[in-house]
Amino acid sequence: MMTSGSGLKEIRERAVVVGLTGGIGAGKTTALGMFQELGAETFSADEFVHELYRRPDVKEMLAHKFGDEIFNVDGEIDRKRLLRKAGQFPDGLKWLENLVSPLITQERIRLMETTPAGSVVVIESPLLIEGGFQRGYDLVVTIEAPFGVRQKRLSQRFDDKAMQVLEKRRLTTGQRIASADMHFTNDAGLNELRYFVRMVYDRALTMAGAKSSTGASEKASF
Ligand code: ATP
Repeated sequence: MMTSGSGLKEIRERAVVVGLTGGIGAGKTTALGMFQELGAETFSADEFVHELYRRPDVKEMLAHKFGDEIFNVDGEIDRKRLLRKAGQFPDGLKWLENLVSPLITQERIRLMETTPAGSVVVIESPLLIEGGFQRGYDLVVTIEAPFGVRQKRLSQRFDDKAMQVLEKRRLTTGQRIASADMHFTNDAGLNELRYFVRMVYDRALTMAGAKSSTGASEKASF
């Protein structure tokens, strides 16, 4: 029998699926790597999108919608340019989300069905809560950090303008935390983040084995 997110003392016939989300540049990918080191099956929506944008049919679709300015000199999608361009269209960012979200859902279901029971799948998806996809996950975890910290960490990747465009599409930290089961403020070192990741992983493993009789539906904060 499959359990609901808060179901206790029941045996799951599938892996536990953790949704990992958070603020832009808050440390989601770093945390995902830590889950992988612990033995979780991991999936990054961001990496998936990178691969998606390399597909000729998708490139053609994007060019049709946003024009050729979104390509770099090698004829590949330049994500910075794409985001800037999409931000100029009233429906541009929503259109991109609609292209990508169903494919991520498909992948989540595939992983859920193919990963052995008793193990843990972690799916990093930046718009998990914004898109209202929480119900597809057994545990939703958000990684947050103050804006200034994130801006500094991402200064190589985004200019301030691109970050502001993206930030406008997002819920606030407080809103994400309110919708998540667990959250972490990643404004200290990597060891603190690793400690939190281990705690989430242990909790997910407990859920996978349904050994826990308390705590699985409590909120945790750091
Ligand atoms: P994006 O929203 O762009 O996908 P992200 O949330 O996945 O970003 P990361 O890529 O994991 O964030 O982290 C952003 C940068 O911050 C990386 O260079 C990472 O090494 C660094 N970083 C993450 N956590 C910490 C930390 N606790 N201490 C120092 N640097 C960190």
